[in-house]
Amino acid sequence: MEEGVDHDRALEIALANPLAKNVEVIPFHHANGRVLANPLASYVDDPRFDNSAMDGFAVRASDCEESPSTLTVVGVSQAGGDHPQKIGPGQACKIMTGAPLPAGADAIVMVEDTKIDGNRVTIHGPARTGYIRKRAENLSKGQEALPAGAALTTAALALAGTMGHGEVEVVKRPTIAILSTGDELVPPGTELAPGQIYESNSHALASLVESMGCRAVRQESTNDSIDELRGTLDKLSGHDAILTSGGVSMGEWDLVRRIMEEEGDISFWRMKIRPGGPPLFGTWKGTPLFGLPGNPVSSLVAFHVLVAPWIAGSLGYHPELGPRVSRRASVVLEEDIPGAPGKLCLRRIRIRSENGQLLATTHTHQGSGNMHSMVAHNGLTLLPPDTDGRAGEIIEAIWLL
Ligand code: AMP
Ligand code: MG
Repeated sequence: MEEGVDHDRALEIALANPLAKNVEVIPFHHANGRVLANPLASYVDDPRFDNSAMDGFAVRASDCEESPSTLTVVGVSQAGGDHPQKIGPGQACKIMTGAPLPAGADAIVMVEDTKIDGNRVTIHGPARTGYIRKRAENLSKGQEALPAGAALTTAALALAGTMGHGEVEVVKRPTIAILSTGDELVPPGTELAPGQIYESNSHALASLVESMGCRAVRQESTNDSIDELRGTLDKLSGHDAILTSGGVSMGEWDLVRRIMEEEGDISFWRMKIRPGGPPLFGTWKGTPLFGLPGNPVSSLVAFHVLVAPWIAGSLGYHPELGPRVSRRASVVLEEDIPGAPGKLCLRRIRIRSENGQLLATTHTHQGSGNMHSMVAHNGLTLLPPDTDGRAGEIIEAIWLL
């Protein structure tokens, strides 16, 4: 076991024991939010054929050089209809948005710029080639438009549909068990006995796990008892990974650390980050396990800088197009923010956009038990060890969104 590792080393150790990556083929209509296992290429040209971007008339631009000019209407082209007949000199074809362009036409006049009278149309506006959408101007058949690791969120999902995919090969959602530990914890909404507090970490971690494209299996919290903990961990070891919260510090009742040392397999304990220093990583009966701190802020911060990149790295998520957790941003500090000696400093900041810059300030106090601070702020600084942030300086940060 390594003790007190820096951030990069912690990730390197954890990624030596990655989350198992499996893939599955699912119907397109179930693919919302899923992550592509392989690049997706188009089955079709997009557009499939030259078509009109406007309702109006398909014409020959050379027939419309004088204004007004009058043409004979020889056909209609509708979206989904048959291909219209060719137009010759002095002729026009009525055309709807998305309908195929007749041969012979090289421009479109908007319907607003025309007046129809029987089979004659008078043109009193411009005939524009730019109103024609050319075949394959967006995508060519066979072109890979979505990379592996992209999340099928709104636009990506629509693009997969545009490209004709009735089924998609996606990363199978791993199941990640989440277990809070502590005698003092009771579910919100129940009566509190003296000394008890409401349990919140398991809900927050489950939410993050789901945002990372995994299935969260949340447990009721266990008491600080080695036997209870062993029984529960054994039960959970069939999942793809386990996240625990609490019980990894130096205290006598920090039983997750103790049981992992005595009966599990610990790869590292404690990271050089603040807050969130106590995490451990190892395996329980072969299942990767992160022991996250119990302090509510610390457990979430440790997830963002340790668990999220581990999931993304294990499953091959695309850095820009994958699930949006722990995205980086460069921000301008509006105040001095002290760093931490020997530790990566993850202070909560509120990031706002002003005059083309992302400005960052701190608001509430930064105690690691203060969950309000995680809502009052929307980012974390990434101040390198022994580095203070100065007002006006640009620093790296991550979004808490
Ligand atoms: P621990 O790491 O177990 O010593 O817990 C540190 C602090 O976080 C204590 O004040 C705990 O009461 C609190 N805490 C631990 N687990 C949770 C949880 N699941 N939800 C809310 N607070 C917790
Ligand atoms: Mg505890």
